[in-house]
Amino acid sequence: MRAFNFSAGPAMLAEPVIKKIQEELLDWHGTGMSVMELGHRSDQFIQILEQTEQNFRQVLSVPDHYEILFFAAPARMHFSGIPMNLLRNKTTADYVVTGIWSKMAIDEGARYCDAHCVFSASDTNYLSITAPDTWQIHPEAAYLHYTENETINGLEFPFIPETESLAPLVCDMTSSILSKPLDISRFGMIYAGAQKNLALGGLSLAIIREDLLGKAHPFTPTTLNYQVIAQSDSLYYTPHTFGCYVAGLTCQWLMEEGGLEVISERNLRKAKKLYEAIDSSGGFYRNDVDPSFRSRMNVPFRLSDTTLEALFLEQARALHLEQLKGHRLAGGIRASMYNAMPEAGVDTLITFMKDFMQRNG
Ligand SMILES: *Cc1c(COP(=O)(O)O)cnc(C)c1O
Repeated sequence: MRAFNFSAGPAMLAEPVIKKIQEELLDWHGTGMSVMELGHRSDQFIQILEQTEQNFRQVLSVPDHYEILFFAAPARMHFSGIPMNLLRNKTTADYVVTGIWSKMAIDEGARYCDAHCVFSASDTNYLSITAPDTWQIHPEAAYLHYTENETINGLEFPFIPETESLAPLVCDMTSSILSKPLDISRFGMIYAGAQKNLALGGLSLAIIREDLLGKAHPFTPTTLNYQVIAQSDSLYYTPHTFGCYVAGLTCQWLMEEGGLEVISERNLRKAKKLYEAIDSSGGFYRNDVDPSFRSRMNVPFRLSDTTLEALFLEQARALHLEQLKGHRLAGGIRASMYNAMPEAGVDTLITFMKDFMQRNG
């Protein structure tokens, strides 16, 4: 049986996607070759890459004046790629800090510019977000960067922030991309690592408004120059070929499931049930994030008696509830429930949690 895998990333893939990979693994479309063995400039691979891009455009409704770029690089590479490409002779950029990933983004950004923090959730121990119209926007900032979903501390923006900033909005969507419909036109650029809700580790993608390309700082490594990647159709260097293939299959699966509206409703239902189980446990389980900003994707929680957590994880595994251990920086338990996690997985987890509480409460 397939486990219910709650890993934060690399994470569970949809079963139909894995089956399709298995079906095509030895012989992709009658070529007698595996996708892994195709040259990246072969007609076959170019067809795969074009299909992946087309699937993205369709499932995410990406407007024509945005480029979709694929990188054989981690999400984190863009923490430096963004200032290098988007400062455009300015010296300041705005950052919102809502957790560990956005903190890492601002710290890396500070190596290239005056990385100005417009709002930090550190005052609330990263449990809540203050209204964007109160943020300290810098008038000269080249862009405003935020992280839609903080994967480790489980804090998520339920809206696209509206501020007085006129600078393009740039968003790290690594752990939330494709989890709900998105109005791309509100952004200058979004980017994501593929290992959470999409495909495999080592692949990332960016969706960027065309007018922001072509202004990279001269010291930008060519491999990191978004304009070069755009002009070469993501083939400037050898791309993450297998990851691009898997990403295309995932988009295909999302369309077959009914698209992002349907997926979004399912994700909301899964999260609501799990938070309800936590909140109704009389303190046996605890998640302290402000309910308005609780992540739908990653639910970190503690047991009131933290010494029971090891037993909790061990007994969960016996039921094929895997990889529930919290991030090493946060401890405790974390249930990551991206698109590929079936509702039945969340139901099984909740039943186990109630049962565990009864036996140990
Ligand atoms: C996992 C994660 C990253 C880092 O991804 P890498 O591909 O390992 O660099 C960055 N941002 C967010 C929000 C993440 O969840």
